[in-house]
Amino acid sequence: MNDNHSRRYGPGVDQAKQVLNGGLVQLVDHMGSDLSVVRNARVSYDAAWRAGNDKGSDARLIHYLLENGHNTPFEAPYITFEIMAPIFVIRQWHRHRTQSYNELSARYRPLPEHFFIPDAHTVTLQSEDNKQMRTKEQHPDANHIRQLMEKSNQASFKIYHELLALGTPRELARSVLPLGTYTHMFASANLHNWMRFLKERLHEHAQYEIQVYAIEIAKILAELYPVTMQAFKDINTEKPYEEQIPVNTPGDLDISMRQPTAIYTDESGTDHEYPVYHYGQLTDRED
Ligand SMILES: Cc1cc2nc3c(=O)[nH]c(=O)nc-3n(C[C@H](O)[C@H](O)[C@H](O)COP(=O)(O)OP(=O)(O)OC[C@H]3O[C@@H](n4cnc5c(N)ncnc54)[C@H](O)[C@@H]3O)c2cc1C
Repeated sequence: MNDNHSRRYGPGVDQAKQVLNGGLVQLVDHMGSDLSVVRNARVSYDAAWRAGNDKGSDARLIHYLLENGHNTPFEAPYITFEIMAPIFVIRQWHRHRTQSYNELSARYRPLPEHFFIPDAHTVTLQSEDNKQMRTKEQHPDANHIRQLMEKSNQASFKIYHELLALGTPRELARSVLPLGTYTHMFASANLHNWMRFLKERLHEHAQYEIQVYAIEIAKILAELYPVTMQAFKDINTEKPYEEQIPVNTPGDLDISMRQPTAIYTDESGTDHEYPVYHYGQLTDRED
């Protein structure tokens, strides 16, 4: 089947953006533009022909619609993103019921040894005045904490590989994997529902690890729907997305870093191959 239709990347948005130590956000597909919003709004008074003739009034109309909750015109554009994120982020994400999801199945194939380790500056202390949140200052033992997290994840993956080598069904073996394991999905929604997602997940009360995905999505949507996203920013946020929180994003993700090459040797000396993702982890592991 011809894929020309589904990969219409716009300028500046054709790269996967690395998020956290090994996640990604990538635009897969998009439909419509700011003009689609205007046309949909103006059909209600039979004036679709005016859309695009007066950029100033189109922008004012978009701002008015968004500010006053006239949401349906924003449901015309539709966008799909590819997301790789730790399971605990995806659990928060899936609470957004107006998106459609398709996710990697750990029943079909083993999960790669690919897990979340926080950057040191994001390892802080439990907040005392907000039960859900953490403080902003770095924990004095941040690196020790990261090492413990890595050790725990490695131990879980070792047992996972042992279980698979014993012939344990994949659907059972996966139950020993930690919440920091990366999984992979496509998420699709219309522009209105992406903005609803952003409003909640760009908020400073949202967990840092989902905020960084929301920021990348906001930046991509701003390339595709600049007038709508400007209005969204003016109405909902005081600062540019990039300045909202310190995002430690190393830049575009080199997909070639995905290397399906880990070997696990069981007690009988038999080698088993498993996929592994390398994103510059804490140690100099050679596996
Ligand atoms: C900072 C933060 C902290 C949170 N903490 C917790 C927590 O401690 N525990 C927890 O369980 N969740 C928590 N959540 C998740 C939160 O409660 C929502 O589930 C999540 O934000 C999705 O919001 P939503 O339901 O409005 O979104 P969506 O599912 O995208 O729905 C959007 C809107 O569509 C409508 N809608 C969708 N489905 C239905 C339906 N079936 N029936 C009627 N109307 C519907 C509703 O108006 C809804 O607001 C937290 C979220 C945030 C941002």
